[in-house]
Order: sequence, then C-alpha cells, then structure tokens
Amino acid sequence: MQARTLFISAGHSDADPGAVGNGHTEADIVLEFRDALADALEARGVVFGRDGQQRQNLPLSRAWKLAADHDIALEFHCNAFRKPTATGVETLSWPGDMELGLRLCKAISTTLGINNRGAKGEASGQHSRLAFVSRGGGIIVELFFISNPDDLAAYQRWKLQLAEVLADLLAEEVRHDR
Ligand SMILES: [Zn+2]
Repeated sequence: MQARTLFISAGHSDADPGAVGNGHTEADIVLEFRDALADALEARGVVFGRDGQQRQNLPLSRAWKLAADHDIALEFHCNAFRKPTATGVETLSWPGDMELGLRLCKAISTTLGINNRGAKGEASGQHSRLAFVSRGGGIIVELFFISNPDDLAAYQRWKLQLAEVLADLLAEEVRHDR
C-alpha cells in the first residue's frame, strides 16, 4: 500500500527543448529519463502520475497543477553553465522537501560518480522560481550539467542504473507517511 502519491515530470519537450550542450538538449535527456523511471516504477508496482505518455511533455501550466495535487512531485532538468567544468547534481525545492532532495542528490551523485551540490532553495540555479516549485510545491531535480562532457558521459553510461536506483528510493518513500 502507498501512503503518499507520486508525480514525475520531464521539464522539457520538443516545443521547449531547454538547455543545449555537447550534442544533446535537455528535452532529449529528461523525456528519456522520465520514461525509464516510469518503467522502473511500474515494475515495482508503484502507482504514480506523469506529465504525458512516452516522449510527451505537458505544458508547465498543467504540470504544476498536477504537481500540487500529489504528495511528492519531481521534475527532471539538466543544469548548464558557461564554464564546462561546472559539475554535479542539485535539487531546488521548498524547505520541507529538502530532506528528500538531499537523499535524491546523494543517490544520483553516488550512481553517476559526480559532485553532490546538495538540496537548495527554489531561488537557486538556472531553473529558479519555476512554477513547478513555487506554485506546485514540487522538487526540481537538476540531474547533472549538460554543459560538462564528463557529466554527460557519466549519465549516458549509468542512466538505466540511475532509473532503478531512484525507483527503489521512491518506492520506499511512498510507503511512508511523513
Ligand atoms: Zn530545464
């Protein structure tokens, strides 16, 4: 039985591809990752909502309303910076979600072997004050820096493993009321 509801979202689509780096767009990466995570959650019997079917991403105006209707809501993005050496994972959320944010960061950092930048407030980072957090109460997960070739290579190597690791973490998380 699940004590809490879960929503997973890709932050971008072909209509809004997001940051570009090293031959990829954020949309490529986050759509594929959300779909891989959806498969891994389904395999564990977790019930969840998502912002569209395979390769589809609903507009943010709908996504944040769906996020607000769920107990836990994650939206996946990639970070980007003009210096290609910027590296690591971080989350953006309200203070009440920082504990889960920190655990997500640790799992992603360990699986990909990249820096853990930690759980930050909604005003931090390139996706600061996105409605998904400010109005939806969700967590933005900045998986890695798309502008860093080493981060991207680590992600490509470990992305399926990462979907399994996050599905395990979330399957456990939704079982408990907090
Ligand atoms: Zn983004």
